[in-house]
Amino acid sequence: MNPPAAGSRDRAGIVRRAQAALLGSAVGDALGATTEFMKPAQIRERFGVHREVVGGGWLNLPPGGVTDDTEMSLCVARAIVESGGWDLVGIADRFARWLEGNPVDVGATCRRGIGDYRAKRQMETPPNRWDAGNGAAMRMAPVALYTLGDEERLGRFAVEQARLTHNHPLSDAACFAVGKLIQRAILKDPSRGLRDAADDLAAAHPEFRFDGYDGGASAYVADTLRTVLDAFFSTNGFEECLVKTVNRGDDADTTGAIAGAIAGARYGLEAIPPRWIRALDPDLREELAALASQLVGRSPLFTPRRTA
Ligand code: MN
Ligand code: MN
Repeated sequence: MNPPAAGSRDRAGIVRRAQAALLGSAVGDALGATTEFMKPAQIRERFGVHREVVGGGWLNLPPGGVTDDTEMSLCVARAIVESGGWDLVGIADRFARWLEGNPVDVGATCRRGIGDYRAKRQMETPPNRWDAGNGAAMRMAPVALYTLGDEERLGRFAVEQARLTHNHPLSDAACFAVGKLIQRAILKDPSRGLRDAADDLAAAHPEFRFDGYDGGASAYVADTLRTVLDAFFSTNGFEECLVKTVNRGDDADTTGAIAGAIAGARYGLEAIPPRWIRALDPDLREELAALASQLVGRSPLFTPRRTA
C-alpha cells in the first residue's frame, strides 16, 4: 500500500515533531538519570518535585549527561542514516563498538546480546523468559522515524532491532507500541489514535493495562510502559508528563527517555522546556536534530518505495 502523498502533509511540522521525539528522549534520559533507582519518597525528601536537569544520580553524571538510552538510540539512528537504509548489521556493529568504549551504563541483557553478536555474529538472541526488560524499547524512536508512514514496516524493524538483545513477546509488543505512539503523534492522523495504540497493547497483553497505575517503574518492560502511558495519558504537556514520569523513580532515565520520545512527538519542540534543551551537550543537540530530519527524509512517507 502506498502511503499518502508527502505533498499533502505539513513536512516542516512533521520534521520538527520528529526532532522533538529524539531531543525529548535525550532530555528525558538526562532528567531521569538523577532519580534512577530512587523511591518516590526519597525523591520527595531530596527534591520536593524533581524538575531540573542537574545530573548526579547513582552514575554521578554532569548536568545534561545522558546514558545508554540515548547512546543506543544514537547507534540505531547513525547506522540507518550512514548506510542510507535499514542496516541491522550496522546497528549491531555500532552497539559492539559502543560497548567496547566502556559506556557509563549498560543493561545486563544488552551486554549479553551484544557479546553474543561479537562472539558469533548472532543477529537474534534466542527466546528467553528473562528478556522482558525495557532495553530494546528504549531505543525505538529512530526506528519509528525511519519507518514513518508504514506501520507494517515499523513492526518488522522494531522486532529485528529488539532481538539483537531481547527476545520476549512483551518486549516485542512494547517496542512496536512505542513506535506506533511516536509515529501517530508525529502524523496527527485522526483515524489512527494514540489512545487506540495503547489500548490495543493492553488488550493483547493485560500486563500493560495502565489506567491509574501506581506501581513500580522498574526495568520490567510492563512496569516501564505502564508508568509512561499512565503519565502521558493523564497529563497535558511535555514538562508535566516528564515530571510525573521521572518522579516515580526506579528506572527513571529509561521511563524518562521513552516518555520524552512520545511526548516530544506529541507536543512538539516548542513544548520542551528550553532550560532542559540547553542543558544537553550542544553537539548532541545538533546531531539529534540532524538525524531526526534525515531519518524522516528517508521514511516511506517522503520516499515511497514499492518493495521493502
Ligand atoms: Mn540509561
Ligand atoms: Mn535505565
